[in-house]
Amino acid sequence: MADIDYKSPEELKILTDKTKDETVSFLKKLKKNKPKNLDSVVHKMHTDAFSNFNCLDCANCCKTIGPRLIEKDINRLARYLKIKPSEFIEQYIEVDEDNDFIFRDHPCPFLLPDNFCMVYEQRPKACREYPHTDRKRFYQILDLSHKNCETCPVVFSIIDKLKKTNL
Ligand code: SF4
Ligand code: SF4
Repeated sequence: MADIDYKSPEELKILTDKTKDETVSFLKKLKKNKPKNLDSVVHKMHTDAFSNFNCLDCANCCKTIGPRLIEKDINRLARYLKIKPSEFIEQYIEVDEDNDFIFRDHPCPFLLPDNFCMVYEQRPKACREYPHTDRKRFYQILDLSHKNCETCPVVFSIIDKLKKTNL
């Protein structure tokens, strides 16, 4: 995979909008055909992409969307910060319309100016898993990945590359 250039969320939104029709139609075809090798193709693209792109040059996800946190994340982060879980919730968390815990502020309160994560070793599970292009059964998150094209230059590049395959 050619090197991936950093793109801002604004640029990615424009590009995702511009390619919306062709992407929707391609994803529809994938959902219908369910190619058996989809995971292996996407996982290879994921590995290639992240060997060519450094998240520290981006941090779009930490700046704009933020993770959903589970109780274990909150307890672990509170322990790390040496505060009570209730204090952690009070300082950093709000509940969204789906009743999920999310960070109250964007960019994430733990994002440092050089794009490093202040709590990297203890970061929420959702941060570890984003952008999900290495997960099993990728066909289950085709629509989510299309949405993630608006945030993550790597996902945008993988979906773009996938469209050029015979899948
Ligand atoms: S906890 Fe760290 S990895 Fe997760 S959004 Fe915040 S800065 Fe990013
Ligand atoms: S996961 Fe995607 S959006 Fe997040 S920092 Fe890495 S390249 Fe950027």
